[in-house]
Formats: sequence, C-alpha cells, structure tokens
Amino acid sequence: MTTTKPAGARTAEPATGRTAGHTAEPATGRTAGHTAEPATGRTAGHGRRSRAVVVGAGFGGLAIAIRLLADGHDVTVLERRATLGGRASRIRESGYTWDTGPSLITMPWLFDELFRIGGSSLHAELRLHELDPLYRIGWTGDPRHFDFTRDVDGLRRGVAAFDPHDAANLDRFIVATRAIHERAILRYGRVPFTRAVDFAALLPEMVRLDAIRPLSSFVGRYFDEPHVRQVFDFHSLFIGGDPARVPAIYAALVYLQIADGAWYAEGGVFSVVEAMARLVTRGGGTIVTGDGAAEVVRGGGRVRAVRTDSGAEIPADIVVFNGDIADRAALVPGARDRLPWRLRPLRTTMSAYLLYLGTDRTFPQLLHHTLVVGDDYAGFIREVTRDRTLPTSFNVYIHAPTRTEAAMAPPGGDSLTVLLPVANLRSGDDWTAVAPVLRERLVDWLEGPAGLAGLRRSIVVERSWTPLTFRDVLGTADGSAFAVEPTLQQSAYFRQPNRDRVVGGLYYVGGATHPGAGLPGTLLTAEVTAGLVRDDVRAGH
Ligand SMILES: Cc1cc2nc3c(=O)[nH]c(=O)nc-3n(C[C@H](O)[C@H](O)[C@H](O)COP(=O)(O)OP(=O)(O)OC[C@H]3O[C@@H](n4cnc5c(N)ncnc54)[C@H](O)[C@@H]3O)c2cc1C
Repeated sequence: MTTTKPAGARTAEPATGRTAGHTAEPATGRTAGHTAEPATGRTAGHGRRSRAVVVGAGFGGLAIAIRLLADGHDVTVLERRATLGGRASRIRESGYTWDTGPSLITMPWLFDELFRIGGSSLHAELRLHELDPLYRIGWTGDPRHFDFTRDVDGLRRGVAAFDPHDAANLDRFIVATRAIHERAILRYGRVPFTRAVDFAALLPEMVRLDAIRPLSSFVGRYFDEPHVRQVFDFHSLFIGGDPARVPAIYAALVYLQIADGAWYAEGGVFSVVEAMARLVTRGGGTIVTGDGAAEVVRGGGRVRAVRTDSGAEIPADIVVFNGDIADRAALVPGARDRLPWRLRPLRTTMSAYLLYLGTDRTFPQLLHHTLVVGDDYAGFIREVTRDRTLPTSFNVYIHAPTRTEAAMAPPGGDSLTVLLPVANLRSGDDWTAVAPVLRERLVDWLEGPAGLAGLRRSIVVERSWTPLTFRDVLGTADGSAFAVEPTLQQSAYFRQPNRDRVVGGLYYVGGATHPGAGLPGTLLTAEVTAGLVRDDVRAGH
C-alpha cells in the first residue's frame, strides 16, 4: 500500500520533440446549464469537516475528489491497483510509452473547468496540441480515405469526394447534431436523473430533436453513400455503443468534435491523470494506492467507514464508488432496493483487445489517429455487440502518438496501440487460448489488407490487454471496456445511479453512471454526483 500525502511540487512535463499539431490553449470556460456553487463541506451537526472516501482513481474518482476538496471535505482516494487512472493507465518499456485506453481528448474546456475548481488551469498543468485532421479513416481494398477535420468546408470536400449529393446535406446534419449536443450533452449531461419522472420529462424534447431513433438511421436521413454513413455513425463505438442500437443522442459526439476539436496532451492521456492527482494532493487530499475497498461499513442506514482489503477501516461520512455496480452487493451486503429500479440487469458493453507495439521503424501511412475499416463493417459490429462471437472481419483504431510527440518512442520507432473491439466475456470465450490465435490473425491482417507491410518483423516490444485484463485487473463486469451500453433503456435514470437509492451517503461516479463513458462524460458524472452530495449536505442528509 502506498500513500501520497499532500505535496506541492509540480512534475515537469516530458520534452516536446516532434510536433505535428499546433500547440494552443483550447477554448475554455463554458458553463451551459451549470451554476457555480459556494463551497460547503460541513455535515449538519458535526461541527467538523465531513470525511469523504473516493473508491477508485479512474477519471471519475479523481474528478470527484477535486470537486469534494473544493467543497471543503476531507478526501481520501483509495485505489486497489498500484497505479492511478483505471482504464487510462500507462505502460512504459524500453523507451516506448503507451496510454492503455483513452487517447483522444475532446471537450478540453471541461477539463479546464475542473482544473480551475482545483485551483489551477488546464494550460498551467499540461501542454495540449490540437490535432488536424482529428483522424484518418481508411477502408481495406479501397485507396480512398477520409480525413475528419473540424473545418466544415474541409469536411464538405471530404464528403463530396465520396458523394456530392451527401455533401449538400452536411450543413443540415451539423445543425441537427448541434441542437442535440446543446440539449443532450451541455444541458442534460449536467443534471441528475434521480427519479424516473425526470427521464420522462427529457423524452419529448429528444423526440422533437429526432434523437430517439437509432443513430445509424438518423445518419441515414442525411447521407446515402455507405462510406459517408460510416464516417458519421461510428463515434458511439468510442463509448461501446452499437450505432444500430444507441439513440441518435450520440450524434452529439460528431458535433462536439467539430465544435471543440480533438487534442493530445504531452506525455499522453496519463499525464492528465497525473495532473488530476497533483490537484488532489495539492488540495489537501490523500491518495492511497495498492489497497481496495472491501466493504462499506454502515450504521443507521448510512455509510460510516470503508473497510479495506488490508483490513484497515477509514471513517467516512461520504463514500463515492468509482467501480462497477456489479460490486455493490459485496460492497454493501444486504442493502436491498425497496423496489427493483430496473426490470433487467444492466447490459455491459463490448470489450477490447489491445496490442501495444513498440516498433523499430515508423509507419508513415498512419496519422496520429487512424481507423481502418475492414470489409464487413455492419457484420463486425453485430458480432462484437449483439452476437458476442469472435470477429470474422476486423475494424481497428490505431494510435501513433509519435506523430505529435517524438519522445513517446525511441528515435526512428513507433509506439503503436491497436484497438480491436471484441465481445465481452459473456461470449464464453477462453481468452487464454483465444489471445495468441487472434494476435496472429490480427497482425496478418494489419500487414496485409490494412497496409502495414513489415509490421511483424519491426516489433521489438509487445504488450497486450484482453477482456481478462478488464475483468481481473480493472474489475469491470464481464470484462467490458466501456461499462454500461449507452442505449436509451440504460440512460439517465436507468443507468447505474449517481446516488445510492438505499444507503445514505453512498454515491457513484464514472462511465457507468449518468451521463456516461468517455473522458468528458466521466468528468460530467463527477459534476452531477458532486451536485447531489452538495444538495444532501445542505439538507442535512
Ligand atoms: C480501450 C479504450 C479506449 C478509449 N478511448 C477513449 C478516448 O479516446 N477518448 C475518450 O474520451 N474516452 C475513451 N475511452 C473511455 C474512457 O477511457 C473511460 O470512459 C474512462 O476512462 C472511465 O473512467 P472511470 O472513472 O469510469 O473508470 P475506470 O477508469 O475504470 O477507473 C475505475 C477505478 O476504480 C478502481 N476500483 C474499482 N473497484 C475498486 C475497489 N473496490 N477499491 C479500490 N479501487 C477500485 C479500479 O482499479 C480503477 O482504477 C476509452 C476506453 C477504453 C477501454
């Protein structure tokens, strides 16, 4: 067990090296639907600062820790792993550096809002580079590619290269997705859905915006050409959503990229984790790693302490859990909901097979972010989401951070992350047997149809994550990569709650809660949960 007590020093950021995108300060300071609240932090009648234990140091856990500290609580963050960041941790070996999970930073102003709450700013803590294009999408067996750019004229030219008629519809599509983004994300992403009636109130507006129909059907109303449709409907896969099943609310993910761009933080996404941890310790919080929460100790219907794996008991007035709702039964044994709040258990998302490859050469055909779509896009999505079988064709996302920061690999090399979505462990596959076979198939495909000839012999360091890593190391139910499927039936009130419905003082945060997964979504979950804590403290609950 390691404890990081409050410290002052800032960690120096790694050297820049090669820089493809330009360095800029992203737009900041938007506060749609959000009012700043005065700090609170005293539980009624105690006459002392209330003690909060945040269980889990993923983006959600660190974000709420910063907010609770700003609200005047004493905060301890308890992380079971030796490292912080959860899905967003870091692997370093032989001069190669990889982010394990997220790599694309969107809505940077949300990070800035959080950092300012923590007494700093995004710009003061990190060096960000905007990526243009945001990513390249290529198709096997087709020499064309699509560079997704923020510049609408550039985007229109890209669409026109596939279908001029579709290009004429781009503006209408952007207007429609902007409206969804403004309401569904900027407004409703910041308010709690603690009652089913709140959800009912949201529906008419989403119907008016045509945001209830499946995302792929929504995109099909504007675009006909199959490649163009894929360019605008795949984004929900970033958070584990099947475009044919998630509501068009997630078309907002396209718009937010046009509005705010995509960014890279020097050192990778893990440097954002490090910066958040700095704000926690600088704000007076304590971070404990290598010890997990085994049980939330209760008394009088509310939380009293957290008992850890090592047997320690940390007194707590507030507990915020950043892990998986599937663990609730063990964490708060016997705390049953009076009424079942869902008819069916939450359905988990697909998982991911990740190869982290350190190569002794570069692959110039890859941009910083490249998506390679195989020959059966729809079939692939069906296999990994609905059918839960091993994919017969491939669609991958490849991260090559040396395009923006040379120091992420030794000179002349690449530190590539290849992300292949796969079915989660409900498929019943034995991943100890599957992984080596799939690895060979995938590298063959990358060298052949995906165009990375010479990849196999260039690999000098290799690591991987499988669904077993998600389940056994990160503790996610079914080894899911993105938590809970973002379908309409699992949104807002019907997701994992932000506040426990039975146990007083127990809250949840992270990608499985409202509004959902993805780095910006996870930061918003912390905002929603912090608001509930504040309301409860004020009301003396
Ligand atoms: C492969 C991949 C690629 C992605 N790409 C992107 C991207 O490019 N952009 C983007 O915005 N999003 C992306 N995402 C999504 C994003 O990474 C997640 O939504 C986000 O990181 C989730 O954060 P979290 O706080 O919910 O949980 P987690 O990251 O899962 O953190 C939870 C933490 O809680 C700890 N924990 C659990 N139980 C206990 C316990 N009992 N005691 C102590 N600790 C406990 C775990 O060890 C873990 O550290 C990606 C995700 C994956 C998997």
